[in-house]
Amino acid sequence: MLRAMMQGRGPYKPLAILRHTGPLRATRPQHWRSQHSCAEKHSSCARHPLWTGPVSSLGGTWQSPINIQWRDSVYDPQLAPLRVSYDATSCRYLWNTGYFFQVEFDDSCEESGISGGPLGNHYRLKQFHFHWGATDEWGSEHMVDGHAYPAELHLVHWNSMKYENYKEATVGENGLAVIGVFLKLGAQHEALQRLVDVLPGVKHKDTQVAVGPFDPSCLLPACRDYWTYPGSLTTPPLAESVTWIIQKMPIEVAPSQLSAFRTLLFSGHGEEEEAMVNNYRPLQPLMDRKVRSSFQATGVGMRS
Ligand SMILES: [Zn+2]
Repeated sequence: MLRAMMQGRGPYKPLAILRHTGPLRATRPQHWRSQHSCAEKHSSCARHPLWTGPVSSLGGTWQSPINIQWRDSVYDPQLAPLRVSYDATSCRYLWNTGYFFQVEFDDSCEESGISGGPLGNHYRLKQFHFHWGATDEWGSEHMVDGHAYPAELHLVHWNSMKYENYKEATVGENGLAVIGVFLKLGAQHEALQRLVDVLPGVKHKDTQVAVGPFDPSCLLPACRDYWTYPGSLTTPPLAESVTWIIQKMPIEVAPSQLSAFRTLLFSGHGEEEEAMVNNYRPLQPLMDRKVRSSFQATGVGMRS
């Protein structure tokens, strides 16, 4: 871990690693602190409107994202493989939410979703979206041994056995299951390119385009090893309703594909243009949680 920390990223050297909110958060810019720390510690930092209203779960104890310490995660042989089955025809549209771009699905269909793994029920697919940085050196919400990836995909599912709808589930116990997939630079991702191709149509906030049938399982890595822990939404209301399932292996995307993400805007038509970058929440303390893994760690330096 120390080695990863000492490598640092960008202009942010690990000089102030230990802050009140946990280690390693000095390794990337802090535009997206939760509002109290933003106000207290970084009065000059930019605030996205998302973070300026009242946020109900501040002070929660099981918040996300976190830094996953590989060696501190506990292998759980009881963790079954995750079963993933998505209906491509339930894909509806892609839109600019003003914070990231998101692909929406018709969640009236019980079949399209995930089960198994750490989940006690079947969870329906609702939407997926990405978080990314201003440069390739940071952008993911979760980190692994202090390492940030340039982007992170979140596939959001809700517990349709326990709740009537997505809205109820977002604030309910065991309401959501989110698969996190890290993106790293490499070869062009052909499936992702289908989304990249339509991004010019959603440059401004609150714009949307049709996607056509799309099966997001094509965005999952071939190796399905994962970490899991109980946490929260990383956007308001920050409800602690999420079973996180973080894929160990990243997927590869081309630099040009990430660059296309950064051509989007936080701003709407007629507003001053503000590039959509650094739309991640800072790390939150692990507190009394354990991160479980579906795989056995067999050595050091295994991060891809
Ligand atoms: Zn997210």
